[in-house]
Amino acid sequence: MSNLLVVLTGPSGVGKGTLLQSLLLQHPDIYVSISATTRPPRSGEVEGQHYYFLTPERFQAMIAAGEFFEWAQFAGNFYGTPRAPVMQRMEQGQRVILEIELEGARQVRQTAPDAFQIFILPPSVDELERRIRGRGQDDDAAIARRLKQAKVELAAADEFDLQIVNDDLDTALSSLEAALFKTPLC
Ligand code: 5GP
Repeated sequence: MSNLLVVLTGPSGVGKGTLLQSLLLQHPDIYVSISATTRPPRSGEVEGQHYYFLTPERFQAMIAAGEFFEWAQFAGNFYGTPRAPVMQRMEQGQRVILEIELEGARQVRQTAPDAFQIFILPPSVDELERRIRGRGQDDDAAIARRLKQAKVELAAADEFDLQIVNDDLDTALSSLEAALFKTPLC
C-alpha cells in the first residue's frame, strides 16, 4: 500500500471538502488535485481553484485525448482528474489526494492499485440529507439525485481501505491525519 496517492470518497454533503481544507491548513505540502467538471460553478467557486469548469465539448475532447487520470458521470454532470498535474506531483515525491466519487475511485483501484483509498461516512443518512439541504446550493431535483447517489455510495463503503465517520470535524481530521502520517511517505 502506498500513501503517496490517496483517494478520498464519500457521499455528497458528507464534508469531504471541509475536511480537506482543514487538512491542507495543517499540511500545506499536500497536493489536492483540482478536478475538471461540466457542472456550473456554485456561488463563491473560483475557476482553477475549486474546479476547472469546462463545456461538455471540451470535457469530451479531454477524454478522447486521454488527458484524464480518471473520470465519471455524477448526478448529470461529468467530473475528471486531469492526469498531468497528478503524475508530475507524484514524480516529485509529493503526496497527492484525489477527492472523487465512487466510480472514479473504482477506476483508480484498477490503474493505481497501490493507492490508499479512504471513505468518509456521515453519522447517519438523515444527517446527510440535512447537510445537503442545509447547504442551499442545489435545487430540489439536484438534491434528490445526490441523495439517491449517496445511498449507492454508502453501500460501497466496504470496498475502501479505511472508513472515517465525519461526525465531529476535529475527530475526523485526527483520524485522517493518523492514517496518512502513520508511516513515512512511500
Ligand atoms: P460536487 O458537484 O458536489 O462538487 O461534486 C460531486 C461529486 O463529484 C463529489 O462526490 C466529488 O467528490 C466528485 N468529484 C469531484 N471531482 C471529481 C473527479 O475529478 N472525478 C470524480 N470521479 N469525481 C469527482
